[in-house]
Amino acid sequence: MIANGTQSVSTSDDSTARSETSVTDDIPLGSPRVDDAVIEARDLDVYYGDDQALDGIHMDIPERKVTALIGPSGCGKSTFLRSINRMNDLIDIARVEGDLYFHGKNVYDDDVDPVALRRKIGMIFQSPNPFPKSIRDNVAYGLKVQGKDENVDEKVRTALERAALLEEVDGQLDSSGLDLSGGQQQRLCIARAIAPDPEVVLMDEPASALDPIATSKIEDLIEDLAEEYTVVIVTHNMQQAARISDKTAVFLTGGELVEFDNTEKIFENPESDRVEDYITGKFG
Ligand code: ADP
Repeated sequence: MIANGTQSVSTSDDSTARSETSVTDDIPLGSPRVDDAVIEARDLDVYYGDDQALDGIHMDIPERKVTALIGPSGCGKSTFLRSINRMNDLIDIARVEGDLYFHGKNVYDDDVDPVALRRKIGMIFQSPNPFPKSIRDNVAYGLKVQGKDENVDEKVRTALERAALLEEVDGQLDSSGLDLSGGQQQRLCIARAIAPDPEVVLMDEPASALDPIATSKIEDLIEDLAEEYTVVIVTHNMQQAARISDKTAVFLTGGELVEFDNTEKIFENPESDRVEDYITGKFG
């Protein structure tokens, strides 16, 4: 496995088709088996030591839609999210079995560089975590790491605009990112994540530390982001999932994916009694 993100991981058969993409941010790609699916989980199990956190997950995540992962605490939502861009690799005792395809390529194959993968599949965490740097440097960070240092100012402004923050911070891009409000800091982190132009944005309860007004701005932003990116969001807030997602996956105890369908169907007419009980608040 190549652990250094600056090295090429292209395979010979895909390099021509994507010759405009720098090899430094490339990963080998295949073809999805399911139309419109950008991520496909097949029989995916995750263990922490001897404890199983995910059990046989099968899910096709559609491109440029918002997919919400819901379910009671401890049922494996964050674990699944982290398995998509191999963040679980960073947890010593985590072990993954089964397959997780990104554009038809198994991300757990030996020739996939997790660092390159995470450039294509960015992540936003529960608490905003801007660097103690200026707003500009926060957003420029990922660009510089990747050597994308042409037109940085323009790219920074575009990312801030896409993250619905530019209007509020224009003229003060040299101020510290830490001086922003919590909601603005989270939008700054979103700008930082999308500046290098990933395809997928994973969000782990991105609004749970925010007040209702900041939450509503993040929700509007997530819906807008899905015009350009595939968004997968973990939320403990069922109303939020109902408001902003196109697809909803319901995980229940034991790390089982019990139902995955269009959000309307899950909330209005779920197939499973367990999902209905969960949605209607009978447990969880
Ligand atoms: P959720 O996101 O649905 O709350 P998690 O994915 O965080 O669920 O956790 C699923 C299970 O895996 C839980 O039993 C949790 O205790 C366990 N788990 C999560 N992260 C770790 C970790 N880093 N080390 C050991 N066990 C973990």
